[in-house]
Amino acid sequence: MTLTRFFIAILYFSTTMAVAQENNFKNKTIPESIRTETLKALQFFPELQDTEITFKFKDRIKKSTMQAQPTWGSIFKSRKNRAYIILISRKIQIDEEEFTITDIPSDVLTGWIGHELGHVMDYRNRSTFGMIFFGLKYLFSKAHIKEVERAADTFAIAHGMGEYILRTKNFILDNANISETYKRRIKSFYMSPEEVMELINEGKLKEAIPQ
Ligand SMILES: [Zn+2]
Repeated sequence: MTLTRFFIAILYFSTTMAVAQENNFKNKTIPESIRTETLKALQFFPELQDTEITFKFKDRIKKSTMQAQPTWGSIFKSRKNRAYIILISRKIQIDEEEFTITDIPSDVLTGWIGHELGHVMDYRNRSTFGMIFFGLKYLFSKAHIKEVERAADTFAIAHGMGEYILRTKNFILDNANISETYKRRIKSFYMSPEEVMELINEGKLKEAIPQ
């Protein structure tokens, strides 16, 4: 085989692989600028292969960076046919500091998207009535917010995204440019890096024990 042929073969192979990777996920709308990270996170959730999910930028989301929710149009459909939207804040506004999505390291962004896909996994188990009740509770109960955010992380960790989730948390908590107010919110509602580590290790232990 000549060198040129060899390179053409490599090129052909990598293009085919890229197409195959895209085709594994149907019904997804993903903005170009976060395509790599989103596809990387989706690989961890084969159950969501056929689920309709739209990833969409929004100028500002109150108090958070990303938000997963079922679409209004599909909320009364059967669970199997429910569609979801993941809103992503164009600017990551953390008090006076302003980041844009491109300032965030790729792995951190992947972890962030993984957390949102964890919410989708959680929603999938809920009935329509359960979803509505769930939305209302999220507005009024701090204990409920805590429970829901932990569930999203737990789903992501159980799907093998522990290291990414950890990076996302450390990025926020160790970042000098992020305000204490935001960090306090993260600390009070979200799982701590130590708890994430514990869950990762538990998973490893389970894997190590022969069934
Ligand atoms: Zn969340």
